[in-house]
Amino acid sequence: MSAASEAGLTGLAPYASDSARSRGRRFPQPEAPTRTAYQRDRDRVIHSTAFRRLVYKTQVFLNHEGDLFRTRLTHSLEVAQLARSIARSLRLNEDLVEAIALAHDLGHTPFGHAGQDALHASLQALADPDSDGDALGWGFEHNLQSLRVVDQLEERYPSFDGLNLCFETREGILKHCSRANAQRLEVQEPGGVAARFLNGGSPSIEAQLCNLADEIAYNAHDIDDGVRSGLLSLEQLAEVPLFERFRAQALTDHPKLEGRRLLFESIRLMLSEQVYDVIRTTQAAIDVLNLPDADAVRRAPPLVAFSPAMRAESQVLKSFLLRNLYRHPQVMETTDRARRVVSDLFTRYLDAPEEMPDSHVLPHASPRQRARAVADYIAGMTDRFAIREHERLFGRVLFP
Ligand code: MG
Repeated sequence: MSAASEAGLTGLAPYASDSARSRGRRFPQPEAPTRTAYQRDRDRVIHSTAFRRLVYKTQVFLNHEGDLFRTRLTHSLEVAQLARSIARSLRLNEDLVEAIALAHDLGHTPFGHAGQDALHASLQALADPDSDGDALGWGFEHNLQSLRVVDQLEERYPSFDGLNLCFETREGILKHCSRANAQRLEVQEPGGVAARFLNGGSPSIEAQLCNLADEIAYNAHDIDDGVRSGLLSLEQLAEVPLFERFRAQALTDHPKLEGRRLLFESIRLMLSEQVYDVIRTTQAAIDVLNLPDADAVRRAPPLVAFSPAMRAESQVLKSFLLRNLYRHPQVMETTDRARRVVSDLFTRYLDAPEEMPDSHVLPHASPRQRARAVADYIAGMTDRFAIREHERLFGRVLFP
């Protein structure tokens, strides 16, 4: 049996990524008899250790603050769902979209952005005395870390590190990359996934879609979690035109609607309109270009987008969430403690590597490699494991 192909099955658009024309894997492997290359990538992501840890990692609210808030895992599932819906409508490759979406946050530290900021600061503080202004650790970028997870850190195969995913999946995972890190990646993999951050160009249309689906997902679910937590109210949300429009429509359709059902109906209408907007705007951008294949997308300007009006409204929602939720004193207070846990752990493991499992202790490695091994160990932790480690090593309970 030859490998399955999406081509005759779903009528992929010519500019969609076709697994049969993939740029392939870093280590050649025979194709699977019943699954396409991207289906296989999705399966590898789901079976990875890093994927299972996402359930115990913070999205906005710390994992132990409540059982009903989004975690990195449920967030990733919501991104995959939204991206697949849009992909099917635009005749893009759903399997690739799903693989990228499920993997996009694998590199996140415990405690969401607070943990990432703390780890970045810890690495940056280790200036290398032997090189001009080069920070020893090169900092921490969560997109790059997601790529490190699938390229290097997962230990599941007999003859190579990582999951050996296809180029297109890895390209989508590396959503952003600093120029300095792109240059280092380019040395290891010339013309590879980092090249576009140096030479310009776009990623595949599926990668672009996952990027926007991520934003649509977290804007919507952070409203839900914000109201559920009591930190946001429906009254406050009246200042967000995008939300208020659909709340008013929900009340016109169902005059007696209130409470959580009103919230859910408003979010549902908002999500649907955003999805339709992306489909319309993206299709219009595609229609004016001649895109004979997936590589034509890489040479074209970004295609997947909101309309200008929806982009502006989404921006208002984002800054509302920043002001009223992500910077809410109650959220900031827990993120301060989370930052403390991560930077304390980093300092301690660097001084006393024997506190880590043997696999992370590299006695003969350079200071840079040892710092990176500590960062990898911490980045892989779940919230509760990091809290327990901090209690074990410092004897203080920061999260009672
Ligand atoms: Mg995300």
